[in-house]
Amino acid sequence: MLIRIAGLVPESFVDGDGIRLAVFMQGCLRRCEGCHNPDTHALDGGRLVDTAEIVAAMKRNPLLNGITLTGGEPLLQIDAAEELARAAKNFGLSVWLYTGYEFEDLPPNADALLANVDVMVDGAFVVALRDLNLQFRGSSNQRIIDVKKSRAQKKIVPWSDIGR
Ligand code: SF4
Repeated sequence: MLIRIAGLVPESFVDGDGIRLAVFMQGCLRRCEGCHNPDTHALDGGRLVDTAEIVAAMKRNPLLNGITLTGGEPLLQIDAAEELARAAKNFGLSVWLYTGYEFEDLPPNADALLANVDVMVDGAFVVALRDLNLQFRGSSNQRIIDVKKSRAQKKIVPWSDIGR
């Protein structure tokens, strides 16, 4: 399957817990003031690659703890995001997802993707709430959510790295 990406970071230490393959997906319509990745906005920007190339990159790096789907807005290419998330889970990798959607306001077709996501950082960046001291997020409205527990308990359960 083809996916339009702005770029890949083979070993990121800042886009989630541990060492992660970060996939910066191309395309976002939100135009948040102060966005750090304006180059990812154009829907026809970046470059098209085959998801198989990204899956191969996951497979060949034994140091990875997981992958991170970020952007841009990953949910604009939800089928490709789901394919990558499913492949990562099959390799025993964790999956983090950054999205401008809030957990309570996800599109109905996000369910299959979410079933393969461990942690979601939700909500659009709000420049007035920007805080450089926050871990793994840019503004304090964004939440780091344990997706599996939140789905099971039908309420937002914050992600915690305690005991990991
Ligand atoms: S949702 Fe993310 S990528 Fe899109 S404009 Fe906002 S900060 Fe930028």
